[in-house]
Amino acid sequence: MSTTTSIIAAALFIVAAPILAGLLNGMDRIVSARMQSRIGPPLLQPFYDLFKLFQKERIAVNKSGHFFLLGYLLFTVIAGVEFFIGGDLLIVLFALALGSVLFVLGAFAAGSPFSSIGAERELIQLMASEPMLLIAAMGFYVATGSFQAREILAQPALLIVLLPGVFVGLVYVLTIKLRKSPFDLATSHHAHQEIIKGITTEFSGPYLAIIEIAHWYETVLLLGFLYLFFRALALARRHRAGARVLPRNPRGQHERAAVLAMGASLFVGIHTDRWRGKSDCDPPPAREGCAMSLLKKSPWILHYDGASCNGCDIEVLACLTPRYDVERLGIINTGNPKHADILLITGNINEQCLPVVKTIYEQMPNPKVVIAVGICATSGGIFRDCYNTRGGVDTTIPVDVYVPGCAVRPEAIIDGVVQALAILEQKHAEMKA
Ligand code: SF4
Repeated sequence: MSTTTSIIAAALFIVAAPILAGLLNGMDRIVSARMQSRIGPPLLQPFYDLFKLFQKERIAVNKSGHFFLLGYLLFTVIAGVEFFIGGDLLIVLFALALGSVLFVLGAFAAGSPFSSIGAERELIQLMASEPMLLIAAMGFYVATGSFQAREILAQPALLIVLLPGVFVGLVYVLTIKLRKSPFDLATSHHAHQEIIKGITTEFSGPYLAIIEIAHWYETVLLLGFLYLFFRALALARRHRAGARVLPRNPRGQHERAAVLAMGASLFVGIHTDRWRGKSDCDPPPAREGCAMSLLKKSPWILHYDGASCNGCDIEVLACLTPRYDVERLGIINTGNPKHADILLITGNINEQCLPVVKTIYEQMPNPKVVIAVGICATSGGIFRDCYNTRGGVDTTIPVDVYVPGCAVRPEAIIDGVVQALAILEQKHAEMKA
């Protein structure tokens, strides 16, 4: 590979890899939602989430942790560049492992128990997956006589046939590296998860975005590893295409364009004229989402159950079910105040949950809004005169939206979140001013 080609390949990887991985991430979330009979978020939701995170307040638990995070991103990019310019697989794996270790060190540097447990878990996963990646590299060497990606790519032999066991082993450990269930605890962006975020617990806003970008680079690099097994098929196809020049097929092109338009319609909600054809249908109504800012397209909610009877909590969780499917609006029920934009509280505040509510509120990065869900959260409700009850949520922290009801219906909760989004954007504008 010439120097110019290498520079182009490196630049292409740096620019295109996050876009490709973001789209794959969006498709993954849509497929997961469809398997649960939900509509799921738009295809571009991972990008909305990412841009939202960059607009959040920067909170540093420990500055050295952020330095380690930048190292994680840097070495992951170096690993990808080395791979895509056809470099040495051992250097690729070394840089990748170094980046992952820096990520783990960043989580340890935060010093919190949850972050440390998440870091230890990540370290165990790393020790489980790295040997298989090294075995894969050695397998390529045995089959092709080289560790250089460019020479492995040039091999006419189909490596999946020569190394079936290595392929199966690699696919198995990629569930760890690509953070598929059950290894997605710390980084899952599915609406139904409501658990602590492990290694990412202490990172928020732009720093959480850096972790996401590094993970996207890692995804594309590992998919490149898988491609090595099938490269011979592409070579053979190119060879056949070179031997026989096919005539242009305008009808085939039209059909392909129609299929692409259908895909866009399904996943993004873009209705192109080409797909609508010459029907007399009215143009589709503009999606409300098109007019929304990026901040409003990615509301991450932290649900806290104060001293409630759990009636309202059940209704909050009902919002995640296929009937209401709030993830289609980009809403995620996160389990971490540092990742949340909206604090949704059910039940009144008593002496026991008072310090917890205050701490959660203080840990959330700005801009943030609070929704009091249910008459208990609004005024204390039927528990108002109990011996240890302070009253509604506004006796402890400022409340932006009140959603009365006993129990509150899911439609009212979603309506409250929509109102909270307008306030969230207003607070963001004030923050920037
Ligand atoms: S408002 Fe009603 S349903 Fe909700 S927590 Fe209070 S008593 Fe329970």
